[in-house]
Amino acid sequence: MGEGRKKIARTVWGTLPVINKIYNRVPYSIKNILASTYGRRLYRRRYANKYYLDAIDKIIERETWDLEQLSKYQDACLSSLLSVAFRHVPFYRNLLKGGKIGPEEIKGRKDLTVVLPVLDKSFVRQAPEDFIDERLDPRKLNRVYTSGTTGTPLCIYRDERADGLAYAFYEARWRLPYGISKDSRWAMLGGKLIIPQTQRKPPFWVWNAGLNQLYMSSYHLAPEFVESYLEEIKRRRLEYIHGYASSLYTLALFAEKLGIDDIKFKVAISNAEPLYPYQRKKISSSFNCRVVDTYGCTEWCFQGSECSGNRLHLSPDVGFFEVLDASNNPVPEGEIGELVCTGFVNYAQPLIRYKTGDSVRVSYKKCGCGSSFPVLESVEGRCDDLIILEDGRRVGRLDPVFKQEMPIIEAQIIQNDINVFVIKVVPDNAWKSNDEKALRQSFCEFVGNVNVQIEVVKSIPRTKSGKFKAVISFMGGNDKNLSSEKANEGV
Ligand SMILES: [Zn+2]
Repeated sequence: MGEGRKKIARTVWGTLPVINKIYNRVPYSIKNILASTYGRRLYRRRYANKYYLDAIDKIIERETWDLEQLSKYQDACLSSLLSVAFRHVPFYRNLLKGGKIGPEEIKGRKDLTVVLPVLDKSFVRQAPEDFIDERLDPRKLNRVYTSGTTGTPLCIYRDERADGLAYAFYEARWRLPYGISKDSRWAMLGGKLIIPQTQRKPPFWVWNAGLNQLYMSSYHLAPEFVESYLEEIKRRRLEYIHGYASSLYTLALFAEKLGIDDIKFKVAISNAEPLYPYQRKKISSSFNCRVVDTYGCTEWCFQGSECSGNRLHLSPDVGFFEVLDASNNPVPEGEIGELVCTGFVNYAQPLIRYKTGDSVRVSYKKCGCGSSFPVLESVEGRCDDLIILEDGRRVGRLDPVFKQEMPIIEAQIIQNDINVFVIKVVPDNAWKSNDEKALRQSFCEFVGNVNVQIEVVKSIPRTKSGKFKAVISFMGGNDKNLSSEKANEGV
């Protein structure tokens, strides 16, 4: 990709903070209008999308397929993905130019794992544009930011096809099985900073009429405000709720404490954090509903959804995945390894043998529910601690702190005391002293006015079992303490 194209991609990226600044300054009623206008645009892009409409029934049908049908399907997907990647995506074409690889050498999944190297996230982070199909204009693509499990900021570009397919998978695997749909009224407890962090009184939410969605800030969910959240949820007559397990759990715990027992959802959908059994139980009893876990990523190279037996199944039609050890060799079935994926959804920016950073354990034995999809027994890499703030808030994933264009390879947030934080940063070459200031500011926007020291380091140590922890708290907010009901009495 030429320099001009790179510049365009980066300029568009740089305009986002300006839009946020304007949004933050307008009155609340205007915020609702802006959110709804934006929501209507999203609705059209996601659902009035020919790829979406065409995919739904097929996705549902594939759930009944046997292993042989699924294997054939994966080989076909792989062949068409590789033909795009080798012809039109600079990174992969350059691999071919390197000489030793010919596209004709890869006929199926087996050849793929022998011929192509695994792809580290840092390649995509350094030059996301090199992974874009050069026939597409990056300015017209949907840009989504993620820092994933390892705190590595990434920009993912998706085209109309990828968006349509992604939302068809959401609809078919995360909503329709539970009697809800894209048109249901719902609450999202999410990581977007829709209300300034400094605001100390409700509302901490906006109504997005475009998506029938009550978007609630998970950053303001302090004990003193939980009742207002619950009242708003009641008032809106919602069919389901979707959010981080820790936020859903906080709501459920307070609903019980406050004696609010008339909120009933069809389902509560947990995402982005591990869902522990004690959380599932409490959320289910407080909101009179089934609780389901999900597994997904912004890169759209894997997706997991729960079956009737409460087990997470990986969708083989979303991507081909491998579970590899530190030397990139497959681990024996049932052992922990890194999830490495080749995504079939996003042809605009193909990711082939992409290291996700998640440590998982996968079983290929047929599940009692009858599905041939493999079972994700556990995700080890996302067991981040929660931080506890002075006002009692427990905050889990802090990804959005890093989601802007920060020259960071990896980062870890450490809480040493109630108001004392250290952020360890492994910077890349573009790191300048004012990036430190920007990172400190971004962090305080999310958690409030705390003491935060930025520590530039060469590497971030993993835990004994090889896990990367994006957040470490020495305040006792981790799972071991949370799993005890008694430890929560002071919440
Ligand atoms: Zn199952």
